[in-house]
Amino acid sequence: MKKKKKLKKKLLSYALTLCFTLLIIGLLYFGYTLFFKEKEKELSFLETVETSTYLAINKYVIYGIHMNFEGSFTLPETVSEMKLILTNGETEIEIPTEITKTESNSYTFQTSKSINDGLVLDNLPQGNFYLILKTTNYNEENEETHKYYSVTNKTTYSDLEYYTLTTNQKNNKIAIEWNTYSEIPTLRFKITEEKLPDEVYDITIDPGHGGNDPGKTACSDGSEPNYLGYCQSGNLVKESTLNLDVALKLKEELETLGYKAALTREEDKKVGIYDKFGSATMANDTKSKFNIAIHHNSSGFGTVKGLEVYIANDTKLDLAHKFVEEITTNANTTSSTMALHKVDDGIYQRFFTPEEIANDDVQPSNKTTNTIYYYYIREVGGISTNATNDGRYSPTYPKNEHYNSNNTAESYLFELGYMDNFQNLQNIINNPNGYAKGIANGLKDYLTEIKNI
Ligand SMILES: [Zn+2]
Repeated sequence: MKKKKKLKKKLLSYALTLCFTLLIIGLLYFGYTLFFKEKEKELSFLETVETSTYLAINKYVIYGIHMNFEGSFTLPETVSEMKLILTNGETEIEIPTEITKTESNSYTFQTSKSINDGLVLDNLPQGNFYLILKTTNYNEENEETHKYYSVTNKTTYSDLEYYTLTTNQKNNKIAIEWNTYSEIPTLRFKITEEKLPDEVYDITIDPGHGGNDPGKTACSDGSEPNYLGYCQSGNLVKESTLNLDVALKLKEELETLGYKAALTREEDKKVGIYDKFGSATMANDTKSKFNIAIHHNSSGFGTVKGLEVYIANDTKLDLAHKFVEEITTNANTTSSTMALHKVDDGIYQRFFTPEEIANDDVQPSNKTTNTIYYYYIREVGGISTNATNDGRYSPTYPKNEHYNSNNTAESYLFELGYMDNFQNLQNIINNPNGYAKGIANGLKDYLTEIKNI
């Protein structure tokens, strides 16, 4: 009897071990087939890519949430249609591209002329996608025939890494990698869900000035500070304080919307422009997608008033329009009355003039009349904004580590109002929340329209 019981126990244990082993084998097999099926699909697509020629990529740039390509190619045959796509062999994502014929079957191409337009990286699905030119021809039966051409890197730049904006507490990591498959050069977008690393942020906010640099000053009753910088009546109001007030509120607003926001300073101190996490570098040090520089203005006249949103070169105005709309509504203010450098209602763009370029401290200057004057915008944008090692300073000034980068944040400089206009000043002092809410809502409106996931 005892022996029987022992045997039963032994059998049961064998059965359990067997079940467990089978389960492990099953799971391994399932994972294995899933992984290799995916791999097989990808590789079988790459087998279909033409090997006669490759598109030369002469420039590829990420600015904010957008990516753009420029290049040239010569096809071995005349084609009816062609388009630039990202594909895994099944799904095709078309990238709107302007293709210009230079001679018989030779072309140049550019995805967008605006640096904040083009392929929206945040809209890409997870998976492995390749950058491909798909051509279409028609055979004698009038049926479509397709060919696929891959791309080759003609730049000095290499792989890029991008994290999408936080959406419902989730992020995708996009590894953009140059590889070779059976001697075919490829540009692969490997998109996987990944937790945002601690040092990576969605948005950087830069409250201008601080410490021994107060920026503009005013007296709270509208009187002028005296030549020593003191107010006879009313309290001295520093721009650096107003900037910080709005920035701290903005951080809260953005976090309420689910974004991870970084500040270049959280107290009254001076931050070095090109220091690690400085006002011109933090957005890129933290791989932020947007940089928001907060300032307040003065004209010396008292009559000029209103909001000015400064934009980068070659910029589509959609986001700037949303900022103007939401800030004027939420802060109960108006667009600026200033005519100089005005692009549109409340939107301003200030370039270097030929005289300023000629008088640049750093010669030879790489600035052009398409280079933005404000370093908060220019220096953050890398090659998209023709960044420099800020020319107002001596060549011994610290170097901007990102000035040559092709993967940078989209930057805006806000002059929220005029401190020497009493109406503006009162509104700024009493309602920093309105300005912060306006900026946050402007970004939200824009992203809601542009993002389809
Ligand atoms: Zn300022």
